[in-house]
Amino acid sequence: MEESSSRHAMRPVLIAGGGFGGLYTALALASRRHHPPILLVEPQERFLFLPLLYELLSQELRSWEVAPRYDTLLASRGIAWLKDRVSRIDASAGCVHTEQGRQLPYSRLVIATGSRGTSYGIPGVEDLAIPFRSLADVERLQELVQHLRSHPRPLQRLALVGAGPSGVELACKLADLLRGSTVIELIEQGPDLLPQARAFNREQARSALLRRDVRLRTQTRVLGLEPGRLLLSLTADNAAGSDESLPVDGVIWTAGVTVAPLRSSPSPASTPGAACTVNRPCSCATTPVCSRWVMWLTSQMPMERPWRPRPRWPFSRPTAWRRTCCARLRASHCSPSAGRIWAR
Ligand SMILES: Cc1cc2nc3c(=O)[nH]c(=O)nc-3n(C[C@H](O)[C@H](O)[C@H](O)COP(=O)(O)OP(=O)(O)OC[C@H]3O[C@@H](n4cnc5c(N)ncnc54)[C@H](O)[C@@H]3O)c2cc1C
Repeated sequence: MEESSSRHAMRPVLIAGGGFGGLYTALALASRRHHPPILLVEPQERFLFLPLLYELLSQELRSWEVAPRYDTLLASRGIAWLKDRVSRIDASAGCVHTEQGRQLPYSRLVIATGSRGTSYGIPGVEDLAIPFRSLADVERLQELVQHLRSHPRPLQRLALVGAGPSGVELACKLADLLRGSTVIELIEQGPDLLPQARAFNREQARSALLRRDVRLRTQTRVLGLEPGRLLLSLTADNAAGSDESLPVDGVIWTAGVTVAPLRSSPSPASTPGAACTVNRPCSCATTPVCSRWVMWLTSQMPMERPWRPRPRWPFSRPTAWRRTCCARLRASHCSPSAGRIWAR
């Protein structure tokens, strides 16, 4: 009995996913004296500071600042990093299986696999639209901006789909970069931009778009995407049946995210008291701990209805704040709430 419990104690706390939730949890745990072994399983080489992606696009920041390597970030921090992807959780055996065929035991499991973009099954989106979530996406957009600036044609047009925080901020950034050479359309199926924002922030966003001549089309649904064309349908009550085919030189998809799927047997959510789902790490400090062996960090909850952009966290922080936070992260002085809750 004693032998088995000491063997269990030697198992690491395993953190699946090294985004904000996973990385900060690992750093917070590692900052404790006598912390357990910590294993971070993350398939990417680099941590991506997503709120700084806009500055990477405009080349105000460089990629090493926005996307530091995990081996550099975690050097001498007491956290082991494994470049692999968790493919399945075997909760009964207390281990996870990985894409590269490993079987990794854990004492506690933190699932922080985050979210990913979704096309909601709209035809053409996966193949033709550019998302805005990765370094590769930024490179594609930089090439497109360069092309539009160096080969300007009359009425060249970019469409951004989804007038949430990412869509609004990216539309402003692209308008600045394209300096009037391209019409920018921001398309939103709902009645207004930033549906979850305060009225003041919405007004600020609206005037930022106006100043840059970004055209906002609300109550407009994307039906499909074909090479060089966006198929739209007006959703306003009095506009039934009015469809439009909009010529475009590029489409950027910021229309929503969904939870990154991870198979588990049994499902942590189906085992009472076994799992703790923490939505929005910002509010973790006030959430009671119920985790016995799994903590599930979700920045986005599953979509209830298709094709409805979900709000992200409040994003209206100025660049200065972001830079400070990025620098802090590198220096690891943050005491993230997600880690605090686990260790209580
Ligand atoms: C362009 C952009 C700008 C944003 N700006 C802001 C902002 O200003 N303010 C704000 O509050 N929020 C902002 N957000 C939202 C914020 O970035 C997310 O809420 C946050 O990244 C969520 O963190 P997370 O750790 O839950 O998930 P993620 O950041 O999605 O990280 C999940 C990690 O898990 C890894 N992973 C996935 N599946 C597996 C698996 N099976 N096994 C192992 N690893 C896996 C992924 O590679 C990834 O590294 C922005 C988002 C975007 C896209």
